[in-house]
Amino acid sequence: MKVRVLGSSGAEFPGFNSPAFLIDDSLLLDAGTIGAVLGEAAQWKIRHVLVTHAHLDHIKGIPFLADNIILKNKKHSVTVMGIPAVLNTIKRNLLNDKVWPDFTVIPDIDSAVLKLKSIRPEKTFAINSYKITAYRVNHAVPAAGYIVESAGGRRLLYTGDTGPTERIWHATETPVHCAIIEVSMPNSMKEMAILTGHLTAGLLKEEIKKMKNIPERILITHPKPQYLKQIKKEVAGLRMKNIAILRDGEVHRI
Ligand SMILES: [Zn+2]
Ligand SMILES: [Zn+2]
Repeated sequence: MKVRVLGSSGAEFPGFNSPAFLIDDSLLLDAGTIGAVLGEAAQWKIRHVLVTHAHLDHIKGIPFLADNIILKNKKHSVTVMGIPAVLNTIKRNLLNDKVWPDFTVIPDIDSAVLKLKSIRPEKTFAINSYKITAYRVNHAVPAAGYIVESAGGRRLLYTGDTGPTERIWHATETPVHCAIIEVSMPNSMKEMAILTGHLTAGLLKEEIKKMKNIPERILITHPKPQYLKQIKKEVAGLRMKNIAILRDGEVHRI
């Protein structure tokens, strides 16, 4: 499984993009960044988008992708998947013909550019050769993380945004090869992190204790660039092997 980091930051600055992880060129985990880094041909390869939650920094690539598609070809469609509460929010507040055209009915309902498909937590389903399972996580709005398992049995866990949580760690009963976990804030902001549904390095340490098997690799996403130096120091202070902070543009093979 090839994971290309289109963005992995908790805020936007030049060189720091919102979260989006492109798996084998066609399956996108979160959609905070698409057109800012992918050329047209690469955008056309995206067929499925798995969204963790409806916060803007995780979905804002979707409306622009849809607009690029409609400009060129009426027969192409992208399936956007998430738990029902997330899809409802996107439909009601983003693709509502006010903020952006409703691409779930353009050009018409049968051949719409965007197809929304809801997911039931902890019910494994298939996208092509991948097995996908969503797990609810603990954020300020309804949110779910994912396990993506390749045909070869390689397992990627992605939390999306979450504070201290429970269900998703059950997925580590079967070994996970790579876990992309959020750490948004420095330890000094622990209370704010808990209040807003995020983790610090110190809180991550407690989450790791809940895991049945420690993932082979842990990659940190969503740090606030304003506190990146401090977060890096605190993650290094966990003294765990195979833990690293992601950088935009990296490609990881899992
Ligand atoms: Zn969020
Ligand atoms: Zn976020």
